Amino acid sequence: MPPDPSVMESQLALLKTRFADRTATQLNAMVREVQQWRQAGGHCGDITALYQLLHRLAGSSGTFGFAELGQRARCLEHRLTPLLECPELSAARTQSVIDADFLEQLQRLISLLHHDEEPTSPPVAATLTPPSLAEDATEVLILGAELAELVLPLGRYGFNIAHHVAVDDIPARYWHQNTTIVTCAHHLEATAIWNSAQARRDQQKKAPIICIGADDDFDARYRLAELGASGLFTRPVEVTALAERIEQLNREQQAPAARVLLLDDDKELAEHYRLVLTTAGINVRVMTRPAALLSTLAEFRPDIVLMDINMAPYSGVTLARMIRFEPQWLSLPIIYLSSEQDRDQQLSALAQGADEFITKPISDQRLIRTVRILHYRARQLSKLVSCDGLTGLLNHTHIKQALTHEFSRVQRLGHSTTVAMLDLDHFKRVNDNHGHAVGDQVIKALANLLHKRLRITDHLGRYGGEEFVAILPECDLIQAKTMFEQICRHFAALSFNGIEHKFGVTVSVGLADLNQFISAEHALNAADEALYQRKHQGRNGVSCYYLPTLPVDNG
Ligand code: GH3
Ligand code: MG
Ligand code: MG
Repeated sequence: MPPDPSVMESQLALLKTRFADRTATQLNAMVREVQQWRQAGGHCGDITALYQLLHRLAGSSGTFGFAELGQRARCLEHRLTPLLECPELSAARTQSVIDADFLEQLQRLISLLHHDEEPTSPPVAATLTPPSLAEDATEVLILGAELAELVLPLGRYGFNIAHHVAVDDIPARYWHQNTTIVTCAHHLEATAIWNSAQARRDQQKKAPIICIGADDDFDARYRLAELGASGLFTRPVEVTALAERIEQLNREQQAPAARVLLLDDDKELAEHYRLVLTTAGINVRVMTRPAALLSTLAEFRPDIVLMDINMAPYSGVTLARMIRFEPQWLSLPIIYLSSEQDRDQQLSALAQGADEFITKPISDQRLIRTVRILHYRARQLSKLVSCDGLTGLLNHTHIKQALTHEFSRVQRLGHSTTVAMLDLDHFKRVNDNHGHAVGDQVIKALANLLHKRLRITDHLGRYGGEEFVAILPECDLIQAKTMFEQICRHFAALSFNGIEHKFGVTVSVGLADLNQFISAEHALNAADEALYQRKHQGRNGVSCYYLPTLPVDNG
């Protein structure tokens, strides 16, 4: 759960105070040391420590609202570079770098800690509106009087539908996290403007817009894309295809929260980033020391790693290379979050195993946007590998992997988890009577219905042809049976456009409780056996596999 914005604001303020206190102590100590070096005629102690302090301040001060301090620290850091690159410089040369002006500038940094600047971007906590609805409801907002005809048929697909004649009629507090807008072409421009304003106000992604139009040529399509539409349907609207497109767009919006592993040895900065990202609904794990990096990766399984480069005595670049030792982390996006500004240095760091470079300081808003974009890209890539092309559900290999994973959880935790095997009834006839393309529409419709009815924590895969497997953690056979019976009824009520007439299809389901078997494979076979029984008992319904009860031993 994202933290309460007011709580978060006070936590951010506390971090800022801690940052200012710690920095004042460190800078005061450094000023005293530099004064001693100057008195010793340029014979310096640990210049690296001074450099590292300035480098850290250059990267982090802006985040805490001390932008000028950060810029001045960056200038002093650059002035020190020749001494670091050539440590054998004479005392006279050192004295000329760390001169009276350098000392004065260093002292000035301390006074800048008392300047309270306006934050460069509004704090995220102040601008966030908490979601007002359960996240899994699929909302469809239909705009335009002539689209009233879509309300009933789309309603049959289980969407929550709101219909308004024009944008001006939408109630002021209308806000839904997972809305897809269906609008007619002449309302598109006003709809796009309204949509952008809502998204800005609530710090959320814009809702996808599907346009129902008359023209379908290049110019018309280009114009729609320019206005921000995500799809075009021409009249007469094919409702099955429209419902499927809405589902697809909704699935995109409902992507699970990104999991970010954040590695930075600057505790306050790491905590600041954690708060900011958590407020945006991102799941963050912070590490300030990399020793447990590999075990944390295995346990937390992040989508993205955000990593500082300088974490003395460790280097983020070396850590990135080390992560890639493991084949399973080869495609894990690693992003450096560093104050390094030199483009060549950035590129050579990137060449050693990371994917992006974000230069500190970064505003809270940009950090959130960057993480979201990278998460989206990473998800698209992993989907290509794990999803079935027709339905977007997990493919055979990945649903079996999910089953093995759930089996080991059941072994550990002992809860009931249902595994379901589904198969379309007499599907060969559908293909024979209406063609393969229509058959594909039926497969997709069942996939969408299942996707809509199952929870986000359930796993759903296309096991093969017209067979599906669903895994429902923490759901016993009785609950699962009730739910799948509803799904069967719902699916049987859908009507598909055949070659000459509309037709309906049914589905049969077999269920087994994963907890009762010695392996995932055994449970799956049991669900298949229950499905087989169902096929023999008249199809269109659900059968459960119950273990044969042992005879009671009265002796
Ligand atoms: P039952 O009720 O006993 O399951 O009968 P059925 O006709 O569904 O069973 P059968 O296994 O004999 O036929 C399955 C059909 O599914 C045969 C195959 O052509 C079709 N099929 C498999 N994959 C696809 C696909 O991707 N698209 C389409 N359109 N059809 C497919
Ligand atoms: Mg079959
Ligand atoms: Mg079948």
